[in-house]
Amino acid sequence: MKILIAEYAGFCFGVKRAIETAYYEIEKNSGRKIYMLGEIIHNPQVISDLSKKGVNVIEEEELDKLTEGDKLIIRSHGVSKKLYDFLAKKGIEVIDVTCPFVKKVQDIVYEHYHKGYSIIIVGDRNHPEVRGVNGWCDDTAYVVNSIEEAHKLPKLEKACAVAQTTLIGRYWKDILEVIKLKVKDLVFFNTICDATQKRQGSAEQLSKKVDVMFVIGGKHSSNTQKLKKICEKNCKNTFHIEDAKELTLEMVKDREIIGITAGASTPDYVIEEVTKKIRFLKGEKEEE
Ligand code: SF4
Repeated sequence: MKILIAEYAGFCFGVKRAIETAYYEIEKNSGRKIYMLGEIIHNPQVISDLSKKGVNVIEEEELDKLTEGDKLIIRSHGVSKKLYDFLAKKGIEVIDVTCPFVKKVQDIVYEHYHKGYSIIIVGDRNHPEVRGVNGWCDDTAYVVNSIEEAHKLPKLEKACAVAQTTLIGRYWKDILEVIKLKVKDLVFFNTICDATQKRQGSAEQLSKKVDVMFVIGGKHSSNTQKLKKICEKNCKNTFHIEDAKELTLEMVKDREIIGITAGASTPDYVIEEVTKKIRFLKGEKEEE
């Protein structure tokens, strides 16, 4: 039996930075209340550890509860301009760990919107990153997530198209072809981040070689769901699991080459635990 781990898997730079910042704030212990706006990482273990240490999740609709002097961590997905203004007015200290790749998309959108371009975002309209980016053009963007939706776009004179940073590269190319038919003067930026491209590329390669593929990551993690979509194209035995507890003998029985990849929010120790559990289920090693 062979276990192969994708060359690029697990924590990305943006998520690592967000978590390190949260733990740094805990250590500093300024005596002020610290909140994170939404879960800073789609990983239940990390979120529960942070909340035990005093960093609690707060949702956008609850922000009125914050009082002057509280600290709020803005996660790597970023937020709208309106929200920064609201927090400044309320006297909240913002600890901003918006990923630089996301910031770049916000800047492109802001600049082109103010130059008179319509904005088109290719991505999931309900994802916090896309909602945040849309907030840099006063929520006026056309958000499309499929070729069908792109076909429904109106004819536009002048538009700027960007991608959600975790979009699947192939979707971007296909959807962009349709957008080109709809816009007379189009500028476009492939803003899929480097970490996503590397993870998707190495997961795709690996899934072609294995008998079973495990994609580890939070069930709500958008980039993990996309990794699963990519892998199942090549390997019909693809499973999305959150941690080692979900592994069963049935999944690995009679499988000789086992592949593992992990979303950008998956800590290395979770990947290690999954590897150990596979060995245990295959009778190679005692479970630790
Ligand atoms: Fe940043 Fe990309 Fe990671 Fe998102 S997936 S946090 S854009 S590095």
